[in-house]
Amino acid sequence: MNFHTTILGSSAAMPAFGRNQTSQVVNHHDRLFLLDCGEGTQLQFQKYKIRSSKIGHIFISHLHGDHWFGLAGLLCSFGMSDRTEPLHLFAPAATLEILTLQFKYSHTVLQYPVLFQPIEDFFKGEPTPENPILWEDNDLQIKAIPMKHSLPCWGFSFEEKPQQRKIIKEKLPPNLPYPLLHDLKNGKNIEWNNETIANESLTTEGAKPKKYVFCSDTVYNEAMIHALAGADLLYHEATYMEDKTIAAQDRMHSTAAQAASIAHQSQCKKLLIGHFSARYRELDGLLQEAQAVFPATQLATEGESFEV
Ligand SMILES: [Zn+2]
Ligand SMILES: [Zn+2]
Repeated sequence: MNFHTTILGSSAAMPAFGRNQTSQVVNHHDRLFLLDCGEGTQLQFQKYKIRSSKIGHIFISHLHGDHWFGLAGLLCSFGMSDRTEPLHLFAPAATLEILTLQFKYSHTVLQYPVLFQPIEDFFKGEPTPENPILWEDNDLQIKAIPMKHSLPCWGFSFEEKPQQRKIIKEKLPPNLPYPLLHDLKNGKNIEWNNETIANESLTTEGAKPKKYVFCSDTVYNEAMIHALAGADLLYHEATYMEDKTIAAQDRMHSTAAQAASIAHQSQCKKLLIGHFSARYRELDGLLQEAQAVFPATQLATEGESFEV
């Protein structure tokens, strides 16, 4: 699995029945991205053998405690593990004030750079992109998607960039210079030995780019469907069962069937539901209600990894 997410916490609000609060780690070709950091996330790293030193980026969806109370402790532990590599932190603006106070009174000095970027800043200025890119490199783009919740809240979309074409080695003319190989990978025709060679005769299509979207806390919200469109894997909160639809609406959360409806309408391939209320010891009912609407649904079970 080159692109997958490992669930570290699936409980809403507080730990329940052995389930921890929200956190998951996305692995893209061995680079780790942490999404939310509920209390106890560090212990989950140990339990599920996550190499936390490989985490280069942390994204915090919003400031309800079940999504970030583990953050200060984790940053401290990185310091005590002699981390020197910079850590990119994307979180609500107030996070900086909170961490500064925590570190001030705990006499904590981090020995590695934390590159903090308030998510709000990506929505400022003109023209404001609807789903701005928080971070990107040659392979991957990570965008913020506004959620509808009782606090400012964002989901995160991990979108692979179009892959280079694959060269059919057996068909290559001998001694082709490197710049022409590069052109072939980028889909261009090439000139060689006074003739034009069509790209398709020497290459095949690259792997289809994959997309993973993490929708943290949100009420049922059709406005975000276009941002989720065609996701290979969608994580959507499903705090309640259908009989609690009104409570879900009041508390700005979703039911399992609503999560499934969003997955269906946005034509996602697979759905993961999580953020389960502490009122449910067993989760089968939530799964059944979601699968009735969107069969390709799975429970975000702690310790399990789900391929994008
Ligand atoms: Zn929550
Ligand atoms: Zn919340």
